[in-house]
Amino acid sequence: MIQLNNIHKYYAMGHNKLHVLKGIDMHVREGEFVSIMGSSGSGKSTLLNILGILDDYDTGEYTLAGTRIKNLSASKAAFYRNKFLGFVFQSFNLLSFKNAMENVALPLYYQQVSRKQRNKLALEYLDMVGLKDWAEHSPNELSGGQKQRVAIARALISQPKLILADEPTGALDTQTSYDVMDIFKEVNRKGMTVVIVTHENDIADQTHHIIRLKDGLIVNDHGLHETAEAVTSGEVAG
Ligand code: ATP
Ligand code: MG
Repeated sequence: MIQLNNIHKYYAMGHNKLHVLKGIDMHVREGEFVSIMGSSGSGKSTLLNILGILDDYDTGEYTLAGTRIKNLSASKAAFYRNKFLGFVFQSFNLLSFKNAMENVALPLYYQQVSRKQRNKLALEYLDMVGLKDWAEHSPNELSGGQKQRVAIARALISQPKLILADEPTGALDTQTSYDVMDIFKEVNRKGMTVVIVTHENDIADQTHHIIRLKDGLIVNDHGLHETAEAVTSGEVAG
């Protein structure tokens, strides 16, 4: 699904350059549930933004679902984001002037799906995250956990191959975090590849494959072996 070879990323800092990713090699197989950990400033969001084609890298190679991702025009980048990816952010990024259903339906608007069909699908996805009765409510009437579930439904509605989530539980209390993780586990069990960034060990421990970043390098990549077993036992259990 994801193959990164020797990825380097610099940010311009006045006349200097900040070397943020210093040679990242990473492999994520289809159907994995991966967490990226590391201290603040280690490069987690930078890496996730590159994976999400929200930002470019300087050198190295990135292949996503068989497609080489490099120096894409804005329209090509948008095309591949729509085709492959769903995003979830720590701050939810919902539109406050639209209700829950309209927020979930939004990606389909850009794909020229009719309003009737968009709303029908949005209700199905809201139902899937347990929020069917909240369709008409605006985001400011929802709790943090409910907002994040709306954001997840919105990420899922275009049926992406890969979900990328940057600290999706960072703004939530423990119980709500676990509820959100249960939704990610469920979509992963159905075959979607999920990559989350997290600070929290007990969140990362719920994934199959933990990648640790330190100062722009992967210092630990743990769980590839266990993944196969976890996926198999998950299938048996499910
Ligand atoms: P956190 O856990 O605090 O979210 P992180 O691991 O996600 O941290 P990044 O946001 O990837 O870290 O940032 C890595 C480094 O790059 C930091 O030193 C940060 O200040 C710097 N940085 C991030 N974005 C930019 C930018 N757009 N321009 C310049 N420097 C940046
Ligand atoms: Mg970050």
